[in-house]
Amino acid sequence: MKARDIYAAIEETAPPYLAEKWDNSGLQVGSRNRDIQKVLLALDVTESVVQEAIHKNVQLIVSHHPFIFNGIKSICVDSGKGELVSQLIKHDISVYSAHTNLDSAKLGLNDFIADRFQIKETQPLVPSPHDQLYKLVIFTPQNFSQKILEVLEKNGAGVLGKYSCSSFRTTGKSTFKPLEGANPYIGQLNKVETVVEDRIETIISQNLIKKILPIIKQVHPYEEMAYDLYPLDSSISKNENGLGKIGDLERPLTPKEFISEIKKVLDLPFVRTAGPTPKKVKKVALCTGAGAEFISIAKLKGADAYITGDLKYHEAQNAKENDLWVIDAGHFGTEKNVVYLLEKIIHSAYPSLEIIISDNVNDFFNIY
Ligand SMILES: [Zn+2]
Repeated sequence: MKARDIYAAIEETAPPYLAEKWDNSGLQVGSRNRDIQKVLLALDVTESVVQEAIHKNVQLIVSHHPFIFNGIKSICVDSGKGELVSQLIKHDISVYSAHTNLDSAKLGLNDFIADRFQIKETQPLVPSPHDQLYKLVIFTPQNFSQKILEVLEKNGAGVLGKYSCSSFRTTGKSTFKPLEGANPYIGQLNKVETVVEDRIETIISQNLIKKILPIIKQVHPYEEMAYDLYPLDSSISKNENGLGKIGDLERPLTPKEFISEIKKVLDLPFVRTAGPTPKKVKKVALCTGAGAEFISIAKLKGADAYITGDLKYHEAQNAKENDLWVIDAGHFGTEKNVVYLLEKIIHSAYPSLEIIISDNVNDFFNIY
């Protein structure tokens, strides 16, 4: 299949709009159109991973961390990143990264890890603003109502829990006066017109607004389509995507049992903790990678323990001040399993594709 088919399969789970603004997820190097027979999965695209890809004759590397992140000012092919770019291009190997969009996705990395801990009834720790629901109201001549409803439904508007095609319609009178230069569908220049119109109401999530409005405008007969967008209370938003997860363990664990569980599930030789140790651990928050900035949110949401990585000294102090037990399982420790999630996503879309987990998923830190 084509490279773009694999990117599309990943984006089905991890839509690009969920990526943080500072991120650089997506195609890093290479092609959308080349044929792919073999894919290599890695956490980071390092020199060893590129060598492995060349050696194993793969056409595509999919990584979690973007290969190009801070912007490249020049590509010197003698060493470093430039040399890797040159090697990749020379061997026709593409690199695609799914980073914060995969972190935030409903069934993304945080969900995958929460599942391994058997955390139930999970919710996003920090709900995505893209899940914010809006009420969309469109005013239209009655003979266009059906067409507009069809476009809304086809493009994902009107989804309410386990129901789709939700809308409400009332009929009323609208007035307008076409001014000089206008090209009205109904009415004459400089004359106030009264028209019987439908007011169509539906709901739409934030990420669909930019997509749907231009499509509706194409179908709507008026030069100036009248519409309203009302943000709805966050308590009735979808609340599916977002960074981190929070939920309950099946049964409460003692802190000692919980630490053993973390080391077992994530296959780690050690973890660090900060903040006061609770008596029991039932409600658990987690954020893979670096999630120290969400310590106070985890506390506010009632977590007994918060698993994350990359805790700095003063963030450990913050854990103490927030009276929350924070377990630093390492950036690598909380994210290394991403390759198994990527394997699951790509394999379920393309079972016949050869997928290799890199032998070079390694921590940059050494322990002595
Ligand atoms: Zn990371």
